[in-house]
Amino acid sequence: MVVMARSLIRTTQSQRCHVSSPPALHDRRDTVPDEKAGAAVSTGRLPSPDIVTAALDQAFARYRADDTGIVAHYIPALAGVDPGLFGIAMVGAAGAVHTVGDAAVEFSIQSISKAFVFALVDEALGHESVRERVGVNNTGLPFNSMLAIELNAGSPSNPMVNAGALAVTSLVPGANGEARWQFIVDGLSRFAGRPLDIDDAVYSSESASNQRNQAIAWLLDSYDRMSADPVETTDVYTRQCSLLVSATDLAVMGATLAAGGVNPLTGEQVVSATACRDTLAVLAASGLYERSGDWLYEIGMPGKSGVSGGIVTVSPGKGGLGTFSPRLDAAGNSVRGQRVAHYLSGILGLNLFGSTPTTDTIDD
Ligand code: GLN
Repeated sequence: MVVMARSLIRTTQSQRCHVSSPPALHDRRDTVPDEKAGAAVSTGRLPSPDIVTAALDQAFARYRADDTGIVAHYIPALAGVDPGLFGIAMVGAAGAVHTVGDAAVEFSIQSISKAFVFALVDEALGHESVRERVGVNNTGLPFNSMLAIELNAGSPSNPMVNAGALAVTSLVPGANGEARWQFIVDGLSRFAGRPLDIDDAVYSSESASNQRNQAIAWLLDSYDRMSADPVETTDVYTRQCSLLVSATDLAVMGATLAAGGVNPLTGEQVVSATACRDTLAVLAASGLYERSGDWLYEIGMPGKSGVSGGIVTVSPGKGGLGTFSPRLDAAGNSVRGQRVAHYLSGILGLNLFGSTPTTDTIDD
């Protein structure tokens, strides 16, 4: 009797899940293969290296004294970070590296991992299946919201909030948690162009305080949205958030997404150009949580923040920007990181929506 009631609830919930995945906007016959699309991408190049270096120096000097915001406290190991740390790095799609300040200081990647694990899973499972299984729409609610799941009939909504990221981690190929973890650490290391290590102190601190993420994983499981064990998946997700990167690593990882999936330092094709395009579309819609609209309005590029103070910003075809500054706004986004991205977007002409009036008379 009880079992029957539970399976009835399951049926109703999975039917609601089904309804909550909107239909594809395209006819599959309309999909243009990468080779054809690649011949006509609408991107440009970064200004010359001396202009980029000068712009980074100016940005650093401009915001160095800005102490707005507070460091994250809800993960105990993050609360003790030096709030004054400040680093900026930009890596061009052809591999030019520019850095200023604490660009080599390592910090846990936190939510920025969501972007790169998504890219790897999108590559492994395909554009349509991650859209159906996870969703690509903004929730408009905080990154750890459970209400967003309930309001969307059990759908995690998008891969950049914790619910969607847990669902994505559960989709990572591998027979068990250990295999999935290896896939993630290998994949993120290929994005960074060097082997990444875990911060054990952050991992154990977050493991002892991640009850909310465990609850999210179980709630998703009740809606049949988890593809692996919820406890094991939360552990793998916590480990991926504890990987150590620097602002320079973030810039390299961003430059890889900006260069059709080829790491500009190692020359390795980490993911396909399609997986990059899918990932950047998701970041543009939801990379800065409930502030994503403001971010796109001001900066005009896909970006992804994390509560330890990192932000990666991607200028397709041009390069990646990595910033590190631990003081955050109320949504959990680095204050100085947002200001630097805004400044550099303007001064280097990176805003994707910018244009100038054409002098051509006829379009052909
Ligand atoms: N590990 C953090 C969490 O799951 C990541 C959050 C973030 O960076 N916004 O709560």
